[in-house]
Amino acid sequence: MLEIQSLAISVANKTIVEAIDLTINAGEIHVLMGPNGVGKSTLTRALLGDADYTIESGSLRLGGLDLLPLSIEQRAHQGLFVAFQHPVTIPGVSNLQFYKAMVNAHRQVQNLEPLDAIELLAQVKQAAQQSGLNEDFLYRGLNDGFSGGEKKRNELLQMLLLSPRIAVVDEIDSGLDVDALKIIGQGIRHLQQQGTGFLLITHYPHWLEYLTPDQVHILLAGRIVQSGGVELADQVANQGFQAFAA
Ligand code: ADP
Ligand code: MG
Ligand code: MG
Repeated sequence: MLEIQSLAISVANKTIVEAIDLTINAGEIHVLMGPNGVGKSTLTRALLGDADYTIESGSLRLGGLDLLPLSIEQRAHQGLFVAFQHPVTIPGVSNLQFYKAMVNAHRQVQNLEPLDAIELLAQVKQAAQQSGLNEDFLYRGLNDGFSGGEKKRNELLQMLLLSPRIAVVDEIDSGLDVDALKIIGQGIRHLQQQGTGFLLITHYPHWLEYLTPDQVHILLAGRIVQSGGVELADQVANQGFQAFAA
């Protein structure tokens, strides 16, 4: 469903990602691992459509549709969800207001009526419960004063509301305690069963016990140097990324 072919990405006139090939089908979980500075977040930004990240060559398709000419918003409306390492904070807009705008913008593109306030609140409350977020959070400013773990839970909540076709989550495990990891893992499994395909980016293999990845990819210096099963994550845990250096 998401097809990345020979994608090369430059930032500030420097090639960071050399040539990445990755195909993620509906309901698959792909894990991308690599040490700091190898281009994981660069890939995330480029998938999103951030204009600072230039596509030098290659192609990017979602369900056969070329995403490269599309804006950030248009890509989102095609069902691509990208969750950041550091999500934005908007103190003057409540989380609930943000969800409402987000859900109804997606519905509008699909020619659906906006959700009425009662139905929206019901969906949001269910997603908040699945994300382990207290209802008080809904009325606070978007990510305002949220801890790292609460921001990740908030991203899960948004994913649950949108049921994206493909979700890319950068540094999914950073700042999460064991309880949060479990909840995020359960949320991902729930969406996976509904057909969402995932690209999960991480440094650490430890949280994978909550999920069953279809493939693990090792990124070093802008290239995927090896792809395989969960055993690759175990290898990273035991030997570090050095084991994969040529
Ligand atoms: P990772 O997420 O794997 O830790 P990044 O993709 O964040 O790595 O960074 C890869 C390289 O690209 C680094 O050398 C980083 O400094 C550079 N880079 C990323 N974004 C920018 C940017 N906006 N401007 C300049 N350099 C950048
Ligand atoms: Mg990093
Ligand atoms: Mg990063």
